[in-house]
Amino acid sequence: MTKELVVVGGGVAGCTAAMYAARYNVDLILLEKAAPGGLTATASEIENYPGFPDGINGFELAERVRQQAVNAGVEFVPGEAHGLRRQDQGWVLDTSVGDIAAKTLIVATGASPRRLKVPGERELFGHGVSYCATCDGMFYRDKTVAVAGGGNTAVDEAVYLSDVCEKVYVVHRRDELRAEAVLQKRAFARSNIEFVWDSVITQITGSDDVAAVTTHNKKTQQNREIAVEGVFVAIGHEPQTEWLADVVELEDGFIVADCTMSTSAPGLFVAGDIRNTPLRQVTTAVGDAAIAAFSAWQHLQQLDDDQGT
Ligand code: NAP
Repeated sequence: MTKELVVVGGGVAGCTAAMYAARYNVDLILLEKAAPGGLTATASEIENYPGFPDGINGFELAERVRQQAVNAGVEFVPGEAHGLRRQDQGWVLDTSVGDIAAKTLIVATGASPRRLKVPGERELFGHGVSYCATCDGMFYRDKTVAVAGGGNTAVDEAVYLSDVCEKVYVVHRRDELRAEAVLQKRAFARSNIEFVWDSVITQITGSDDVAAVTTHNKKTQQNREIAVEGVFVAIGHEPQTEWLADVVELEDGFIVADCTMSTSAPGLFVAGDIRNTPLRQVTTAVGDAAIAAFSAWQHLQQLDDDQGT
């Protein structure tokens, strides 16, 4: 298969880039390894995306963006990119559905949840350990759970879980939250959220299902065992860029790009959370995506000019 453009990743960045490129009449596909929607689809409520003054559920927003791409004529191809190599003036993607040649690429593969990397986390994943409260919170109705982290995701999830669960412990490694003030205020107002400050989870225990977490207070050096039936890990995200490491400049694993979303590799553009960017939001992802599509379209025109067509 040969395309003018392949967009890799079906979150809001990928879908927006593909929708814009389709409107430039570019011949493209969007390669997505899982269900489209990316991280946005897992957010319970998004309150800072312009145009939705009362907020919008993340899944609904992601689905609307995907539908807009479909309406623009974008073809979604299920598959995962494993590698990338240069060929002539373009690229060949090594994917789970075979090689795909493209004159230009937009990489919008986002980032995956960071792991705690503690005993019990891997073993009890799916048995009480989760990385998505929106997806799994309902399994913990009237139960006690812990949330690890102190950023927007952790606090947003804790507030959501406090509506469902009997009790929510938020285990955070410092004594102040990173989350935005408006979210903090909401969490502090919930009587069934208890903050475990200056602490990290060092172990998750349980035979078949999660039964407890052990926390370690970094100031007092005290350990504490807290009985919980669920653990929601929300300590940020990491890019999955190993497959691009030899191709494009990375910083801390994120793809370096300029304001045109151009990377160190010619014809390879980037958008969204996988980019080395100071703010990872839906608003910034869709802005990146529109620019990346414009740049990819310009690149294609340049290739045509160079070939005298
Ligand atoms: P984040 O902002 O990077 O926060 C990660 C949190 O986890 C921090 O509190 C950090 O602690 C803690 N942490 C990191 N590594 C840890 C480790 N190994 N052990 C224990 N704790 C650890 O990530 P995020 O909350 O997922 O947010 C990601 C992006 O999505 C942000 O830009 C955020 O604004 C956005 N987002 C927005 C919304 C919204 O607008 N409603 C909702 C969710 C996410 P420290 O604070 O000590 O570094």
